[in-house]
Amino acid sequence: MTAVNRGVIYTGSGSVEVQSIPFPELALGSRKCEHGVILKVVATNICGSDQHMVRGRTTAPEGMVLGHEITGEVIECGRDVEFIKTGDIVSVPFNIACGRCRNCKEGKTGICLNVNPARPGAAYGYVDMGGWVGGQTEYVMVPYADFNLLKFPDRDIAMDKIQDLTLLSDIFPTGFHGCVTAGVGPGSTVYIAGAGPVGLAAAVSAQLLGAACVIVGDMNLERLEQARSFGCETLDLRQDTPMAEMLEPILGEREVDCAVDAVGFEARCHGHDHSHEQPATVLNACMDITRAGGQIGIPGLYVTEDPGAVSDEAKSGNLSLRLGQGWAKSHSLHTGQCPVMKYHRQLMQAILFERVQIAKAVNVQVISLDEAPQGYTDFDGGVAKKFVIDPHGSL
Ligand code: NAD
Ligand code: ZN
Ligand code: ZN
Repeated sequence: MTAVNRGVIYTGSGSVEVQSIPFPELALGSRKCEHGVILKVVATNICGSDQHMVRGRTTAPEGMVLGHEITGEVIECGRDVEFIKTGDIVSVPFNIACGRCRNCKEGKTGICLNVNPARPGAAYGYVDMGGWVGGQTEYVMVPYADFNLLKFPDRDIAMDKIQDLTLLSDIFPTGFHGCVTAGVGPGSTVYIAGAGPVGLAAAVSAQLLGAACVIVGDMNLERLEQARSFGCETLDLRQDTPMAEMLEPILGEREVDCAVDAVGFEARCHGHDHSHEQPATVLNACMDITRAGGQIGIPGLYVTEDPGAVSDEAKSGNLSLRLGQGWAKSHSLHTGQCPVMKYHRQLMQAILFERVQIAKAVNVQVISLDEAPQGYTDFDGGVAKKFVIDPHGSL
């Protein structure tokens, strides 16, 4: 094998490029990773989380290799890898977890204590997430392989369903986690803020969990149409009508049981002002329209540093949250990275046994590695698509 590699690099606010990069090693700097494997990347997706960085809304350094949604074939195993084998096709949870620390032992793999010297939690190709090299590449290294990787049971069936299975590395578990933490169950009424890929994955998840009615809100009409294509109700948030009033004709009441924020800190105002940002809008709206005693799942990302924020407070992550409203209604709010490993096996089975059509719901479009910069631009423009990069033409 010739040791060449290429990947998507963040080259400063608003731009990414495909460049030659080093072939991965079983190491991170001076840290040896004999517990790791090298993957030939089969599919790697562009995420709304990447967009926060590429829009210059984080402190991501230029030159960073992007990509945290990775599915691949194992081509080399480190000395200490016991159960994963060369030739396995595997899904990589975007969270990197050691499997040995207190949080990992409690299943909280999004806040592993041993993979990022700066703070709990790590991910591939992400700002403040430990410096691990991203996977929008031809080849990538995955540490703690026995613990992290989900092996697909059958290679041919996996390749057949790869457009669905590739969503197990992040957005399907993330949407599902949003719903689980919002308390969605049989007969629930659910509001999902945001009809991007994570919101749509949350909507599918709510249906899978047995929700009676799933309502998705956004200002992007193409994305709302996508939500309706698999049976969701929708709210056009460009209208000035209060949300409770929009809910009434759908539900016969002005509140939902459960709410999921699939937007995050770049949230925009509802109504005619919808081009303006207001980072706490979605959180405040969720508290307004969730019934007393209800729960709010918050997979949408909130940051501690936002150089492009609309106010000085928001530059350090301080938002105008109306917490009194949530307190008065005894709401529970659930934040943080999705611990992907908690859900990926069950959701894989739901895909393999055809209980769910996640790729269709989020409208997967496969592109080559060289098309990735265009994919970033189109995704930023709000198309109703989830871009899946196919670096070796294996799809
Ligand atoms: P996206 O940017 O494609 O989608 C966000 C959508 O929200 C857009 O369609 C936008 O029009 C809409 N929106 C903006 N303001 C709104 C408002 N006030 N009400 C309703 N909709 C509004 O991103 P995505 O890929 O779907 O990801 C969504 C969020 O989830 C991002 O913040 C991403 O970083 C985060 N995320 C978190 C995790 C996790 O583990 N917690 C994992 C993956 C993604
Ligand atoms: Zn992601
Ligand atoms: Zn750990």
